[in-house]
Amino acid sequence: MKITEHIKKANGKSLFSFEIIPPKKGNNIQDLYNNIDPLMEFNPPFIDVTTSREEYVYIDKGEGLLDRKITRMRPGTLGICAAIKHKYDVDTVPHVLCGGFTKEETEYLLVDCHYLGINNVMALRGDAMSHQKYFEPSKNGNHFAKDLVTQIKDLNCGKYLHDVIEASNKADFCIGVAGYPEKHLESPSLQTDLKRLKEKVDAGADYVVTQMFFDNQKYFEFVAAAKNAGIHVPIIPGIKPIAVRRHLQLLPQVFKIDLPEALITDIESCKTNKEVRLVGIEWAIQQSKELLAAGVPVLHYYSMGKSDNIQAIASELF
Ligand code: FAD
Repeated sequence: MKITEHIKKANGKSLFSFEIIPPKKGNNIQDLYNNIDPLMEFNPPFIDVTTSREEYVYIDKGEGLLDRKITRMRPGTLGICAAIKHKYDVDTVPHVLCGGFTKEETEYLLVDCHYLGINNVMALRGDAMSHQKYFEPSKNGNHFAKDLVTQIKDLNCGKYLHDVIEASNKADFCIGVAGYPEKHLESPSLQTDLKRLKEKVDAGADYVVTQMFFDNQKYFEFVAAAKNAGIHVPIIPGIKPIAVRRHLQLLPQVFKIDLPEALITDIESCKTNKEVRLVGIEWAIQQSKELLAAGVPVLHYYSMGKSDNIQAIASELF
């Protein structure tokens, strides 16, 4: 079922969902199942699976020589989506990226999704590779998420690349895109970023999932500003419980987001990461309660590997 249909069917009740990261290659899918199992009692109608783009690894050839090879450390998003869908009978949402993929590769991926009955996708640009200062699209790849949304919408009309029309076998994807309550880090202003978000929705995006935020006011203001800008699709809040002390520096550095003073003080008073994890859980519970009271369509959690904290949060709320 489409994410938008799940939301409609819930009839105003907030749903629970979460995002997982595929294991690094060489690891077993059972570890992933062990993390998903305790969350299934909260009836997530869908689970997102992230995609990682390619990266360089350096092989030591001896005598001071390094060989640079390109690799994908976490392949298998679509396979994992299919496995989870089959095992738990739940909808899965593969994240589809512009970066690192040609339009042809994207088309093959979408065709496979269609065959597998996976009809929700998250359309994202992806970030620059670690050695790049700025994002560069692949040769013959999509540049912005909006372009990827257009390619997916074309498939929904039976329009394949190179002007091939297969109107008898149209796809029917429900498309999610990313939104940034504190603006995307490359955007010159929140208003400009909202204009870009509107372009994604006008191109055919059906719903938005936000970047993590720790101050609900930022989300409420973002939703109001989006409505003002003419964006009328569901905006799902993304919530990440702080798990380790290092997040105090890492999250602002990577995502250019602010942390509230009260949260910083609570974390700084912790003596161990175990205590930090408890503070993160409690903060996320309070955040979630306020968002539930405001009637958000879904509470979507970033699980980042270990799910015990998401389980602790969900058991207080669902
Ligand atoms: P876009 O919407 O294309 O925007 C990128 C930037 O370009 C923004 O600053 C925007 O304002 C600007 N822009 C857009 N259109 C134009 C234009 N026409 N001209 C000039 N500027 C323009 N990353 C991963 O690698 N894998 C994942 O699985 C993943 N999942 C994510 C899930 C969520 C919910 C979120 C919020 C992010 C996720 N990301 C993921 C991170 C995402 O890929 C990065 O934030 C990326 O830098 C931007 O992606 P986007 O889809 O928002 O890009």
